[in-house]
Amino acid sequence: MPQDENLSPATLAAQGLGSAAMPHRDIVPPIHVATTFERDPDGSLPGGRLYARDASPAFDPAEALLCRLEGGAAAALFASGMAAASAVLLALKPGARIVAPQDMYWGLRGWMIEFCANWQLTLDFHAGEGELAARLQVPADLVWVETPANPTWEITDIARAAELARAAGARLVVDSTVPTPVFTRPLALGADIVMHSATKYLNGHSDVVAGVLVTREADAFWARVKTARAAGGAVLGPFEAWLLNRGLRTLFPRVRTAAASAARIAGHFEHHPAVLAVLYPGLPSHPGHDVARRQMDGGFGAMLSLRVRGGEAAAREVAARVRLFRRATSLGSVESLIEHRAAVEGPGSRCPADLLRISVGIEHTDDLIADLEQALAAAAG
Ligand SMILES: *Cc1c(COP(=O)(O)O)cnc(C)c1O
Repeated sequence: MPQDENLSPATLAAQGLGSAAMPHRDIVPPIHVATTFERDPDGSLPGGRLYARDASPAFDPAEALLCRLEGGAAAALFASGMAAASAVLLALKPGARIVAPQDMYWGLRGWMIEFCANWQLTLDFHAGEGELAARLQVPADLVWVETPANPTWEITDIARAAELARAAGARLVVDSTVPTPVFTRPLALGADIVMHSATKYLNGHSDVVAGVLVTREADAFWARVKTARAAGGAVLGPFEAWLLNRGLRTLFPRVRTAAASAARIAGHFEHHPAVLAVLYPGLPSHPGHDVARRQMDGGFGAMLSLRVRGGEAAAREVAARVRLFRRATSLGSVESLIEHRAAVEGPGSRCPADLLRISVGIEHTDDLIADLEQALAAAAG
């Protein structure tokens, strides 16, 4: 691959940065399974590696590509998105104060509450930009943002959050799982660290659990994050890392196809008689649409939610009646998924009871629309 700084991110992803493994010049990277690396007689490590829990060559291709796509200084793969997020919290010091959104990925929110209580960290929630500004009148150490955020796809203005975080002395971390680097580059907007559940779009095939962090600066905080990975041991296995590399090659066409389809589905059902509301940041009716148009480049993602007329029972009935959509949690894969989100989140959920969360895959849009149409009709009938 030519060393051209102007190559499109889609090109870099398609060729995995164009690396070729020696000595055979393999077009795709090999699977690196070694756990340990040989020393020279003088005790040095000519291969530059000590032990695979610290830094395995298996991590290199995906870390290098994601670092480049996010425009960061360094990247670290983890055994899951949750492992990546927890490494950030583990890197904080005692007494740290965290400000996080009221609505965000449910599993992470629950763990944050428990962890912060156990470790005497202060955790304050905010319900939107006005409240974020108010919470950041007091100094903080970490601001957590997810945009578009589960399960209503609320949008946070990353550049504004970065300003507020900086003024409060805090680091800004953005969970960018949903938009992916195809549509949003949080570091360029002022974030300090970007996090992904690579289980979702980055791998894209529902066959790897993985996470990644990319940092704008390889500073002392990042060194503590890396220590949390090496010591906590939440590292990705070689085969999973290899599958992730393979998934990343098609990131751009997968995500663009799914997002274009999601936009058509959102528009189609917005005024449907059986639908109370379609929540999708690409719709002008979505409260975050204007900010999303500014900060998302080329699309609004492939996640949307339908609020079904008739409440929880009707929503559950629609989910029961789909034939093509798969009833499963998770998102970001090539097959379309649907779930009654409040049931998945369980007691204490803030998700509306009539909400169906939809992850649009890459099937033909007409088939997906027809399936939802027949499910809505069957549920109403
Ligand atoms: C799935 C998900 C996570 C957690 O990632 P895992 O890979 O399941 O550990 C975090 N944030 C968002 C937005 C997610 O969708």
